[in-house]
Amino acid sequence: MEASHISLARQDQHVPIELLNTSLFMLAHDAIIVRDAHSQHIYLWNSEAEKLYGLSWQEAIGQNYIELLQPRVLMGEPDNETLLEQEGEWQGELAQRRHDNQEVIVQSRQTLIYDHSNKRSLVLEINQDLTERRRLEQTVKEYVQLTTAAEELGIWFWDFAKQFDQATNYREKPLILPPGIPVDLAQYKTHVHPDDWQPGIDAANQALQTHHNYTKELRIIEPNGQMRWLLICGRPIYDEQGNPLRLMGVALDITERKQAEELLRTTSERIRVLLESIPDALVHLDEHWRYTYVNALACQYIGRPKNALLGNSIWDLFPETLGTSIEKNLRQVMITKQAAHFEEYAPVAGLWFLFHVYPALDGIVMHFQDISERKQIEETLRASETKLRRLVDANIIGIAVVTLVAGRFLEANDVFLSLVGYTREELQAGLSWITMTPPEYQQADKHAVQELYQHGICKPYEKAFINKEGKLVPVLIAAARLENTPDQCICFILDIAEQKDLEKQREVLLGVIGHELRTPLTAIKGNLQLAQRRFQRFRKEHSPQLEQDSASLAKIDISLEQAHRQIRVQERLINDLLESTRIADSTLTITPQPGDLLPIIRDTVEDMHFIYPERVLLLELPVQEVVQVNIDADRVGQVLANYIMNAFKYSPEDKPVRVGMDIEEHEVRVWVRDEGPGIPPEVQQQIWERFYRASNIKNRSKVRSFGLGLHVSRALIAEHGGQVGVESRPGEGSTFWFTLPR
Ligand code: ADP
Repeated sequence: MEASHISLARQDQHVPIELLNTSLFMLAHDAIIVRDAHSQHIYLWNSEAEKLYGLSWQEAIGQNYIELLQPRVLMGEPDNETLLEQEGEWQGELAQRRHDNQEVIVQSRQTLIYDHSNKRSLVLEINQDLTERRRLEQTVKEYVQLTTAAEELGIWFWDFAKQFDQATNYREKPLILPPGIPVDLAQYKTHVHPDDWQPGIDAANQALQTHHNYTKELRIIEPNGQMRWLLICGRPIYDEQGNPLRLMGVALDITERKQAEELLRTTSERIRVLLESIPDALVHLDEHWRYTYVNALACQYIGRPKNALLGNSIWDLFPETLGTSIEKNLRQVMITKQAAHFEEYAPVAGLWFLFHVYPALDGIVMHFQDISERKQIEETLRASETKLRRLVDANIIGIAVVTLVAGRFLEANDVFLSLVGYTREELQAGLSWITMTPPEYQQADKHAVQELYQHGICKPYEKAFINKEGKLVPVLIAAARLENTPDQCICFILDIAEQKDLEKQREVLLGVIGHELRTPLTAIKGNLQLAQRRFQRFRKEHSPQLEQDSASLAKIDISLEQAHRQIRVQERLINDLLESTRIADSTLTITPQPGDLLPIIRDTVEDMHFIYPERVLLLELPVQEVVQVNIDADRVGQVLANYIMNAFKYSPEDKPVRVGMDIEEHEVRVWVRDEGPGIPPEVQQQIWERFYRASNIKNRSKVRSFGLGLHVSRALIAEHGGQVGVESRPGEGSTFWFTLPR
């Protein structure tokens, strides 16, 4: 500082100017003010004062010190003026006003300077600027107050120099420990979760080595067993030689955050599992059409792994979707933010899907289900419905849809309507197929309904409807239950009135033929027998004379016998014919009587033996003497003769035919076994039908076959309450049997 800066405001004052005018003031780092002890006028104002108060010496000198700086005692004896007067000195902290009105804080030392006459003359004030320091202190204080005021924050120090490890916290809660009390590190350790202790120590050591701050999360177990999470932020402090002095830092209670994180993690995990396990495919696309979420099922349908989809645009990956209604719909949802639901074929997956697309905050969410199967079923249904409709409309046969329980008509085609003579409206107005059926067919209907419930269909059977005019209309009917409405069925009805008429006519014809043929045949047979008898007698009476003509007589005899045999065959044929007509019009009757079965079998076998002496016919009867049954002897004989006849007809001539009988508890079983070609299983049922002849079984005899014998046999045995059947395997012969109840 220049000497000229140190000026006296009043020359008349006695001032030890030599004192003031020294380098002390000029070099001083403190602000120095000299003022009049009485008037408070400023005499001296050094350059540090200029800096501190923002006022040049020219502006300051001569001003009233009190008015200019407005000093206020912050620390020390408040009445500094009195103290100055009494003691000649004052020390303390002052707040003063700067030229810009800001407050400065100074450490002030004030000394009274006396003049030559030892009177108080001047005050020397040396001020050290404390503003910055105090501000810092205040900040620290506030900071400490703030941090300690916050529940979750603690401050700790770990001092290495002192021989104990010190962890001090300001608040009890975060670090559990009582505030302000030094704690042994080992003691602290007991509160830390065992898994977190070593990682924490390692982090601290690394920070010490690297001179870096560190952060670490660790768990604290509270005495009540509750766990809290702390975030530890530490900073290593070193001395001037670089030796670590201490670690200090803050501990932040992050339990809530951790819990929230955990909750979020478990919740999002749960949501993730949920989304992965839902039976729908789920996709989220962001506003740039990029996949941001795809669940497992969606990946499966799309046929790409998750990582091949995520982050990529749907249109880049699957350009084939462009231009489809999927694209149209997705774009619409993205723009309008309105949900859309639609069914569409996805070319990427090659499947039909039901799409639900919803607007999301940052894109769209779409979930879709595979409905290909349903679509296919719908398609098939539609196709079969069309077919059925065509069939109904084609009016080839009568078709009606009816309910099974109530018997109502739901639908009927024209053929059926003309069959029953009712209009569609009349039928649908409440007519029932049950009341339209005559009583004698109701049992058959019941069977059919049972069959429908059991198997879904019923085989064709004959019945009749009573038409509008009250006449019977014979029909052949078959039905199938409708799958999704189990009480309903569709019936196919064929008008068989014409066929029935024909059958009737045929029966009449057969009857007439049979009768017309039988009458003359009986006469021929009678005459033939008479001729044979007379011939025998004639031979006996004229035997010696006829000796020379014996050869020609024998020929006559043979011719007569042959004629007789043929008549018997013819007779059986005609009988069968007549019998079968009776079976057809249910007029076949038998006259059973109690009797022994054995002689009937023996006689029949004998007869057959007599007629076909060239065949070997073996009889295997049980030792029993009498087998008592209730039978029509002629009819049973007829059946047995028929079986034996067939055996002769269909088995080779050199093979024997066996006839036998088994006696069982409630029935007797008569059988005829041949060594013929056998009967294929598939025709074993049919051979009992009227006029049925197996095309692949060769008839070896000259006797013509009409396919009537077994049919008549079955009817006759049924009349006796017995059963018929055959056991046969191709190539292994056949055993025909019938049973009679005992
Ligand atoms: P028909 O013998 O007059 O043809 P049937 O009613 O007696 O009539 O027999 C029906 C069919 O059963 C015969 O045409 C034949 O094909 C078959 N059949 C009957 N008996 C035998 C048999 N013993 N061995 C092989 N096939 C037989």
